Amino acid sequence: MENNKSLNKATKAVWSGEKDSLAHGATQVPVVHSVAYTYDDVDHWYDVAIGKKKGHIYGRNTNPTVQAFEDKVKSLEYAEAATSFSTGMAAISNALLTILKPGDRVVSIKDTYGGTNKIFSEFLPRLQIEVVLVETGNHEQMETEIAKGCKLVYLETPTNPTVKITDIKRICKAARAVNALVFVDNTFATPINQNPLALGVDLVIHSATKFLGGHADALGGVVCGSKSLVDKVYHYREINGATLDPMAAYLLLRGMKTLDLRVQKQQQNALAVANYLSTHEKIDQVYYPGLVTHPSHDIAKKQMSGFGGMLSFSLKGEMEAVRQFLPKLKLAHRAANLGAVETTVGPARTTSHVENTAEERAALGIPEGLIRYSAGIEEIHDLLFDLEQALAEIDV
Ligand SMILES: *Cc1c(COP(=O)(O)O)cnc(C)c1O
Repeated sequence: MENNKSLNKATKAVWSGEKDSLAHGATQVPVVHSVAYTYDDVDHWYDVAIGKKKGHIYGRNTNPTVQAFEDKVKSLEYAEAATSFSTGMAAISNALLTILKPGDRVVSIKDTYGGTNKIFSEFLPRLQIEVVLVETGNHEQMETEIAKGCKLVYLETPTNPTVKITDIKRICKAARAVNALVFVDNTFATPINQNPLALGVDLVIHSATKFLGGHADALGGVVCGSKSLVDKVYHYREINGATLDPMAAYLLLRGMKTLDLRVQKQQQNALAVANYLSTHEKIDQVYYPGLVTHPSHDIAKKQMSGFGGMLSFSLKGEMEAVRQFLPKLKLAHRAANLGAVETTVGPARTTSHVENTAEERAALGIPEGLIRYSAGIEEIHDLLFDLEQALAEIDV
């Protein structure tokens, strides 16, 4: 049942991956808080250790609850294999360090997630790995850089927080021509809206902390792809130790059962908020791929089945207006998270790009007064009313 392609994703989100872990007739996956697993038969133990037989040896390597989480994501991404991590950043850094070595060249975009950008600007150059960052959405420039030869093309689409879009299929074609791998951070789209593996990508990465978990109560990361590639990433992670905790895996599993419901509601709300803000006199710019005015709306329409729950906007009056506006919102956490059932807002400079300096943010094309808006699952009229009363309070 788990990888049955005929099942709808809403059904997979509920059922996939759990069956193997159920015990005692329970209908829910247990949290297995065991560091190690005991064996009476030494030969059986050995067979499990070398992967010849199914089972678990030690918690840094595998765990039944964690495996159920991996299997659910794997099914939703139509992947052959998946492996998980303590955080999204652990997934990204482990995946990168699995395949990169001194002398390699990476082509990516300028406005990846702030932490990813730090790996590219600070840590990879230290290992003599060259990273070329092109203007997000400039496909010609990216193709030119890829054609010069590279080991990896790293994408994030839509981007955090300016929701820029890259044509995944087009870039995969360019990467194939030089035998480069393609990784995509699919956190913003979620597997409900976008399945990068089907578009030619080698490895899909998620910060499970965000939409997958959906309740802002557990950190996690996951990658999906071919068994041969995921096995390599798993091997790096089992040794380096950025393991997902079983309790976090349980919370993520439980959250994922409503993934489809949540994402559908979040993107309905996001579109309504984007439309509302677009016509408001105190708003400067609205960024949402679902708006026909978004520069990459057509690409988004082609490769996504929904436009997601994330948007961003800038106020006229910049930071002073932001200072007045944000505290007035009653139905939003002012916090560094996104993808949760509650609406969450924050300026990029305290959320996605807190690790960057003001100069770096400017170079990445992120206005200081930009507000990231993660639409929750609240009733839309309550959200619009809340925005209206808060905007009315701005006097710059
Ligand atoms: C949050 C986020 C990450 C990092 O995930 P953590 O779980 O916080 O480590 C990576 N990519 C994107 C797009 C994110 O939003």
